[in-house]
Amino acid sequence: MLGDMLPTVCAFCHRWPVWSTTGRVCTDCLGRFLHPEPACPHCALPVSEGTSVCGACLLQPPPLHHCVAAVPYAYPWNQAIAAFKFHGDTGWATALARIMWRHPATPALLQQAQVLLPVPLSASRWRERGYNQSLLLARPLRHQLMRHTPSCTPLLLTHGIDRLDTPRHQTGMRRSQRLRHWDGAFTLTAAAMQHIHGQHVLLIDDVMTTGATLHALAQTCLHAGASRVCALVFARTPAT
Ligand SMILES: [Zn+2]
Ligand SMILES: [Zn+2]
Repeated sequence: MLGDMLPTVCAFCHRWPVWSTTGRVCTDCLGRFLHPEPACPHCALPVSEGTSVCGACLLQPPPLHHCVAAVPYAYPWNQAIAAFKFHGDTGWATALARIMWRHPATPALLQQAQVLLPVPLSASRWRERGYNQSLLLARPLRHQLMRHTPSCTPLLLTHGIDRLDTPRHQTGMRRSQRLRHWDGAFTLTAAAMQHIHGQHVLLIDDVMTTGATLHALAQTCLHAGASRVCALVFARTPAT
């Protein structure tokens, strides 16, 4: 577990045996590639030192009260995500979750959450992939939280949220059009709504690109009566 050192082959520099608190990535590579930088608290995009909320979020506040990304979507993390998400290497889940936990803002974000909601896949995507990578990240994160703060036992909500298939013909649309297009992409059962109502919900995902998916799910939760919706993602793509 976190804090324990594990022998591993480093996925990035390929040395073996190396010792790591996360597994999969050696301490040297963590030092080389993991350095949290100032980011906007609503969209997790980098901001210059001393700035808080970015200009875009000031102009149009997004539905996410707080959004944290552990790493930028860039080398070598994009390779880890590709293996984890597209090549069935689910063994990455624990290492990526431990790297998320290391972000200075993560423990507080998890401690405040009453409901953890991994972004669901559409039924067809689930059949294709066979697992939901966001759920695989949420489980060890919850486990780590309860180990760190035993009084925190957030609900892990995995049922009752349906996601429609990704709309086609998204390329070429402007971001604002894509965001509109995504409205209503999620539906909640009455039971899921009950779990969310009045609660502080934390969405968990592997990659945040435009934010359209997280925003649509956040809006759905807010419509269902969530008191606050935040998000924790492994990687954030740069602004487009
Ligand atoms: Zn290494
Ligand atoms: Zn922002």
